[in-house]
Amino acid sequence: MAMLIRNASEILTMKRGLSILKNASVLVENGKIRKVGQIKSDKARNVVDANGCVVCPGLVDSHTHLVYGGSREDEFAMRVTGVKYEKIAKAGGGIASTVRMTHQASEDILYKSAMKRLKNLVKHGTTTVEIKSGYGLSPAEEIKTLRVIKRLKKDSELDIVPTYLVHTIPDQMKRRDYIDLVIEEIIPKVARAKLADFCDIFCDKIAFTRRESEKVLLSAKKYGFGLKIHADQFADIHGAYLAAKLKCASADHLEYSTKGAIRAMKKAGVVPTLLPGATLFLQFKKKPNVRTYKKLYCHPALASDYNPGSCMIYSMPKIIALACIVYGMHVEDALLGATKYGARALCLFNRIGSIETGKQADFVIFNVDNYKKIPYYFGEDIVRYTIKKGRIIYGKNS
Ligand SMILES: [Zn+2]
Repeated sequence: MAMLIRNASEILTMKRGLSILKNASVLVENGKIRKVGQIKSDKARNVVDANGCVVCPGLVDSHTHLVYGGSREDEFAMRVTGVKYEKIAKAGGGIASTVRMTHQASEDILYKSAMKRLKNLVKHGTTTVEIKSGYGLSPAEEIKTLRVIKRLKKDSELDIVPTYLVHTIPDQMKRRDYIDLVIEEIIPKVARAKLADFCDIFCDKIAFTRRESEKVLLSAKKYGFGLKIHADQFADIHGAYLAAKLKCASADHLEYSTKGAIRAMKKAGVVPTLLPGATLFLQFKKKPNVRTYKKLYCHPALASDYNPGSCMIYSMPKIIALACIVYGMHVEDALLGATKYGARALCLFNRIGSIETGKQADFVIFNVDNYKKIPYYFGEDIVRYTIKKGRIIYGKNS
């Protein structure tokens, strides 16, 4: 059935910059955008009144760790008193503790808890989400998580992009042996079962070296995976340069990345992905230099990095606000980062991320009359409707 989103105060089309249309409407047919602009209403259509509202492309969260067991509030309580994340990780906390709790959870338990989280995402306007594995480590446990993601993908209204993440080295295993296991067993198995679109690795001083990361990603490339990398979050070990060298779809975190690395990413077409929720949650002083990105026209995506250790925020409107508050990002750039550039980071911009004829009819309709109020109303839930492929999946149409 056709849908008419009528008379919005602002439609952020994201064609060039925000490209705002005022007092405009969107016509949807068969789950796709048919027309944007001045459209006469037709009684037969399903009409959504957007009077006084901002219509934005559905939000794209291009980096999450949404499937996990347990929780880590004790660690949080320690960290706020000044204990460093690296120290907690070395003492068996951090990722290792979520690995233990994820191993203990059955596929059904992981599925149910993640589905609940996905339903919350929808309330905050997310229509496309990437989900990483990475709390399994062993071949069987990584595949278990990826199978859960596959089930979520089948059952959820959202578009879900699965990623196999090489996250950390299991206890009692030598680095070299684990890299071999990843390359010789896990990557081929995941590829054969078609369980992931991307392969990602945590390249940092507390995780894998640049050389190890390169080896793993090159092998993933041979199996046809798109590439992503967690880079330069705790130190500059040239992870962003590696992303440029391997032409990764995205490099994520980037607190320590230098101007030279940003230039290299721009040249190679890598989408830098910034995660202000994690910067805030970990109380990092070091932040990505958003001014340099702007100066070099290297446009960052924004994502939540939702995970049990370093960011429990899944609301993308809050992430947009945090990019402005924590990084000093311009409001316009933050909105673009959560839509258009998020879609680019997932290689999906031909289908989602902007409001243009022929694209998928994914929208979030905010209960505010201009876009600057989206981050400004930080403490309020301002999502009125979430619409996926032309169907309201959150909010009541009265
Ligand atoms: Zn992450």
